[in-house]
Amino acid sequence: MPHSALVGLDVTAVTVQEEKIYDALIMGAGFGGLHALHRLRQDGFKVMAFEAAADTGGAWYWNGYPGARCDVESLVYCYSFSPIIDAEWRWSERYAGRDEICRYLQWVATRLDLRKDIRFSTKIVKAHFANGDQLWHLQTEHGEVFRARHFISSPGPISTPIMPDIPGLSEYKGQMIHTARWPTPGPDLAGKRVGVIGTGSSGTQLIPLVAEQCAHLYVFMRTRNYYSPARNRPLTDADYEWWKTHRAEIRAKLDKSEVSGGGDIFLDEDIARQPIYTNGADLSRQERLQFLERRWELGGAMVGYAFRDVFTSPEVNADVSDFLRSKVRTFVRDPELAEKLEPGKFPFGTKRPCVGTRYFETFERPNVSLVDVKATPMERLTEKGAVVAGKEYEIDVLILASGFDAVTGALTSIDIRGESGRSLKQVWAEGTASLLGISLVEFPNFYMIGGPGSPSVLTNVVRTNEFQVDWIADLLCEMRKSGNATARVKPRAQQAWTEKVEKAATYGVWGKTDSWYIGANVPGKKRQILAFTGGMLNYRKACNQERDSRFDSYEFSAAP
Ligand code: NAP
Repeated sequence: MPHSALVGLDVTAVTVQEEKIYDALIMGAGFGGLHALHRLRQDGFKVMAFEAAADTGGAWYWNGYPGARCDVESLVYCYSFSPIIDAEWRWSERYAGRDEICRYLQWVATRLDLRKDIRFSTKIVKAHFANGDQLWHLQTEHGEVFRARHFISSPGPISTPIMPDIPGLSEYKGQMIHTARWPTPGPDLAGKRVGVIGTGSSGTQLIPLVAEQCAHLYVFMRTRNYYSPARNRPLTDADYEWWKTHRAEIRAKLDKSEVSGGGDIFLDEDIARQPIYTNGADLSRQERLQFLERRWELGGAMVGYAFRDVFTSPEVNADVSDFLRSKVRTFVRDPELAEKLEPGKFPFGTKRPCVGTRYFETFERPNVSLVDVKATPMERLTEKGAVVAGKEYEIDVLILASGFDAVTGALTSIDIRGESGRSLKQVWAEGTASLLGISLVEFPNFYMIGGPGSPSVLTNVVRTNEFQVDWIADLLCEMRKSGNATARVKPRAQQAWTEKVEKAATYGVWGKTDSWYIGANVPGKKRQILAFTGGMLNYRKACNQERDSRFDSYEFSAAP
């Protein structure tokens, strides 16, 4: 049924869900979306979520590649808002595999009875703020339109895959699979010649498993990244007992984290008693190395993030970088090969570091060849495989672990328009200004979970999502209480936060390396730090201050 207030939507092609105006519509039903749905429902709002996938799972739903596993510890890579979940769910391993994370979210959706308010297999293709009724109009891929006062986006900051920029991609006739669109069932790799492009987190995890399955593996490696072993293991009853007594304290510690970085907890009494980070500059070099050794034995991402000042002190960062570089030789006996695998000369952490299992060792297998595409970039793909330095490598299955249009890609690939009629894509072409990485000028009543300008991808994203969801819900409650319907960000407040984000990124080693953190992996994308690098503690302080001021950075108005 056509609707007169629609702006920019093809009204002849859509069916407006005329009857219902929701308080809020949520795009995405992964970690952030599920929690937003639950919290807003608890607060008595009429709310619905849309999810492109056939079930919940978030980014993990699509990343079913062999070895896909979270490199943040499962005990903290999960919700903390629900005593029911705390009491009833139990993780099986220190680092949860992709299937277990999907099972967890699917269980949460059922246990909290969220499914009835989620439209699965439903992608939002347009979202326009209509100046007439001051509502958001969301159009699905199936042509339906839903209207709501508020629009909350939670598409996942790392969810829009990108293809490598290599000539002849369409010439290749073998099977080509992106890690973030892994098919079910996966390909049978037995007896096959397999190529992998990309050695970031995804490539690092899948390479050891693919090498075990296939006849020969060619790894086309461009940047040699920092890596630490996960030292994954099953979680025991004793671990869980420990966790139950330390849970509240550990969660509070994570929220006070002053630096960017992972969110590991260490099931270790000694470390649990310490502040989660130590200042590297307060230690001698010898002491730093001892500290790093201890962390190395414990494994996981927090080896590199051991020091609070790893990003602000170039000297401390250089020690961490050298330490991790030196460790390659402990895995690889062949000194020539070890040299080829040693992380490049860029500061640790300025490209997302990798955590895995048997990664470096895999390169010593006789069926694995390391092809350096840094010195000599891949020339092109052909019908049969890949050409590097004039040599053609014949490949049956080509795996693209080539990454994502991170943080902004999931939102700019949808036609989202605010009250000026400009799309988010147009606005962000000039830079990703925002208020707290949550709201934007020109886009009233639009909120981002995991948006640019928030610490999201530099922190334990699940915990940051939880915090943002609660903050957004508090804002909506405040508006309801004061009888307001529309919240517009004050331009001055947006400018102040954006300057803070930019300033934080000028400290220490940030911005010195080409990486997806600054949009350098997507041709044509504006280079700009995509996350707030000032740490979770400062972010929480800024958000709490805003809440305490009763959201003074917004201009509120009543419904038309
Ligand atoms: P990524 O870190 O962006 O890595 C992409 C890889 O592809 C890089 O090695 C890149 O090389 C390479 N590449 C791209 N184009 C290429 C070309 N034309 N020729 C040769 N190499 C090319 O992507 P990802 O590994 O999928 O990981 C993305 C993010 O997802 C991670 O950083 C992490 O935040 C998240 N993730 C997390 C987990 C987890 O355990 N929690 C697991 C997987 C992914 P260059 O570096 O030289 O550009």
